[in-house]
Amino acid sequence: MFHIPKRDDGSDVIYFCGNSLGLQPKSVRGSIEQELEDWARLAVDAHFDGRTPWYSYHEVFRESGARLVGGRPGEVVYMNGLTVNLHLLMISFYRPSRSRPCILMEDTAFPSDTYAARTQIRLHGFDPEEALLIGKPRPGEYSLRTEDLESLIDREGDRIALVLFGGVNYFTGQVFDIERIVRAARARGCVVGFDLAHAAGNVPLRLHDWGVDFAAWCTYKYLNGGPGSVAGAFVHQRHHRSASLPRLGGWWGNDPATRFRMHLNTEFVPVESAEAWQVSNPPILSLAALKASLAIFDEVGMGALRAKSERLTGYLAHLIDELGRDRAGSPRYEVITPRDPARRGCQLSILVHDRPKDLFRALQAEGVVCDFREPNVVRVAPVPLYNTFHEAWRFAQVLARHG
Ligand SMILES: *Cc1c(COP(=O)(O)O)cnc(C)c1O
Repeated sequence: MFHIPKRDDGSDVIYFCGNSLGLQPKSVRGSIEQELEDWARLAVDAHFDGRTPWYSYHEVFRESGARLVGGRPGEVVYMNGLTVNLHLLMISFYRPSRSRPCILMEDTAFPSDTYAARTQIRLHGFDPEEALLIGKPRPGEYSLRTEDLESLIDREGDRIALVLFGGVNYFTGQVFDIERIVRAARARGCVVGFDLAHAAGNVPLRLHDWGVDFAAWCTYKYLNGGPGSVAGAFVHQRHHRSASLPRLGGWWGNDPATRFRMHLNTEFVPVESAEAWQVSNPPILSLAALKASLAIFDEVGMGALRAKSERLTGYLAHLIDELGRDRAGSPRYEVITPRDPARRGCQLSILVHDRPKDLFRALQAEGVVCDFREPNVVRVAPVPLYNTFHEAWRFAQVLARHG
């Protein structure tokens, strides 16, 4: 179902890097070719006469694209890139005041998110050194305890305009308790948004029921949409009719009934859905790849995927634990991802005490594709859609030889 890169000897690599760039589904080529053919055959007329008309192409994702993250139809739209979406959504949902200027983020947030938050704070004339709050794990721990985060929100809530958290931390692989974070934030009057880059397609999500205000995610990691593929965005239904929200408008966010009236309609009339945040007409070739890829998720279902994922990652964690100590009893490998399966997705972050770079090179030489995060963490993600238990076992054999 997926194209798997080959080693020099023609065998498949062990691809444990779907947390960074997902493999190419074989169905993607046909989906893109259809749009290339329609472009060749119909050119501009494909906007209305194409097999999947481009004018409304993004609406193809109304049901399946929303289901994937537990959104209602109309709450999810695929557009732009992830960080761009965070900015567009923060324009509407980060409304700092002198008494409430702060954004609360997780420790070791992805750098792009930190840059976005810091520059948004500056955009409003505040100082990131004062207005950016960070929720940190306790000394000696790698995961942030939900109860510590709740008390931080409770304590600082008056100053927090926006809680902007990851769904899964990219470095440790910790799954955050979105439901409890939302409850704590809303109880203190804070807006709450999530970056789901490492969560979408990895763990089940119920964004609507949990009451998340907004979220954004990329589609090239677990969702296999291809390099730089168009990103996702969620806006809770309760905001769709709000006339008071500041927005940056563009024609694809306008009511489709009047979108093509062009200069005859100068007043921006936002469509009453997440699509109002779209701004530009979307990249059809990228949406075509995403359409093929999300069809796989729809067919398999997040429930079945998660069930396999818990077993596969649990098996790998068990194998690593068995290798964890050298003969003298001191730890060689330490999984810093939470042990509780409910608090992790498929990724394991392995802290390597002895010669971490050598281990990473050994893994590469043996045909394992994974990544290294300075100074000493190897991230591996056995992805339930295309990785196997046998690959987890073979990976552990490489670790054992290295020790
Ligand atoms: C991968 C990732 C990004 C990447 O941002 P782009 O805008 O897609 O380049 C940002 N944030 C997080 C948390 C990520 O994991």
